[in-house]
Amino acid sequence: MAVTDNSAKYAWHVKPQATVQAIVRRSGSDIIFADAIPTDSTDIFGLILDKSSFYPTAGGQVCDTGFISGANGFSFEVIAANAFAGYVLHIGKVVSGAVAKGAPVVLEVDYERRALIAPNHTMTHMLNFALRKVLSNQNPPVDQRGSQNDPEKLRFDFNARKGLTPVQIQKVQDIVNKSIESALTIHTTSVEFVVAKNITSLRCMFSETYPKVVRVVSIGESAETMLKDPTSAEWQAFSVELCGGTHIDNTAKAQQFAILDESSIASGTRRIVAVTRENARQAFENLAIVQGQLDEALGVKGPQKLPALKECSKSLQNYVMPVAAKKQLEVRLKKEVKKTIKEIKNFKKKAGALAMKKGQELAAASDAACVVLDIDNLDGGTANKLLDKLTKAQPDKAFIVLSNDPANNKYTCAARSGSSLDVNAIVQAVAAVGGGRAGGKPNRSQGAGKDSSKYAEAVQLAKTMSKA
Ligand SMILES: [Zn+2]
Repeated sequence: MAVTDNSAKYAWHVKPQATVQAIVRRSGSDIIFADAIPTDSTDIFGLILDKSSFYPTAGGQVCDTGFISGANGFSFEVIAANAFAGYVLHIGKVVSGAVAKGAPVVLEVDYERRALIAPNHTMTHMLNFALRKVLSNQNPPVDQRGSQNDPEKLRFDFNARKGLTPVQIQKVQDIVNKSIESALTIHTTSVEFVVAKNITSLRCMFSETYPKVVRVVSIGESAETMLKDPTSAEWQAFSVELCGGTHIDNTAKAQQFAILDESSIASGTRRIVAVTRENARQAFENLAIVQGQLDEALGVKGPQKLPALKECSKSLQNYVMPVAAKKQLEVRLKKEVKKTIKEIKNFKKKAGALAMKKGQELAAASDAACVVLDIDNLDGGTANKLLDKLTKAQPDKAFIVLSNDPANNKYTCAARSGSSLDVNAIVQAVAAVGGGRAGGKPNRSQGAGKDSSKYAEAVQLAKTMSKA
């Protein structure tokens, strides 16, 4: 049986005709040959054809999927395609009809899916190129350790002694995005390996054995042009690789490129995960959302700033976004949180002192037997300190102090009495307005309401009860 003519895998949007050469099925651990797939069979079969437009899994690129159809409503869904010994095995199951050896069929690759894989593969080449440029001082130089291109993402493993800094990751990403903006043509040239290897910038695994004729994929300049003067240093500015993958024909088709992760997978080996097109656009959009959120949080005045910043930290962890910017934002946020905590501490100190002063002034000016004070920025501790001062100055009177805390959706209320007035009953009623509780004795009480929107009502109640 002649090997599969797989040259049509480099064509797009074709529906070539082919003939079924062999049908195989797995039986336990054996592969057995069959003469036909019967109607309505639900088993997994493998079809070998004389020709194929399906790209079989190779070189880090996942295989094509699609359909093979034939006479009398035969339709076979290809879920995987694998190459072995020159044959392409189309693995899948029958959707409808039946087929037998020798039958003519039509091949239909899912090109929409391949159109998502191709930019990821081409950008893997650009990533390889950009890494070598950014890590140009590394010795031994950056080399590919593995790659994986599928419809969702690209993955590239390479040697490096330590992790990349956010600035280095950003630089790599910028180089790749610049190549997309430049709308460079992707050239593929079949040429003898002994000739191709003269191009100074050619990237290949020299440890591997290559066929006599190889496929050179170069971005921005053709191998034909380079081969006119293969040792020119000029070609160092281009990505040139030996590769059998299916690529886009212009870098612009990748639309956008975002590195989502850079990590260690083994000693001396790093992994970059990146995306293109819609996934990259989404990542940059997420970054803009969190950046906007941070700008807004930084503009918040007062104690609400801290929860706003913490909300940003949450978003930063939850959204998928370019990792270089993410790491830089993390550092910035940490600094801002630290600064804000200090600011709040200072603010509270100043506000507390001011509240003490104002409380004493208001109490001194009042001739009521029970003085009700509504004061801003008074926390529980400061309220007690203020009451200490007030009762010391006017020991025969009663004092009720209230303060709203909308940032924490609560309000505090505390009271002392030097008269027969039961301030505990008042504070309990005031706290209950906001669904809260209070405790103490008739001459000393403290409590809190759990709803700051009920504050005005609570103050009114305190005033009414204090006059009774
Ligand atoms: Zn490749």
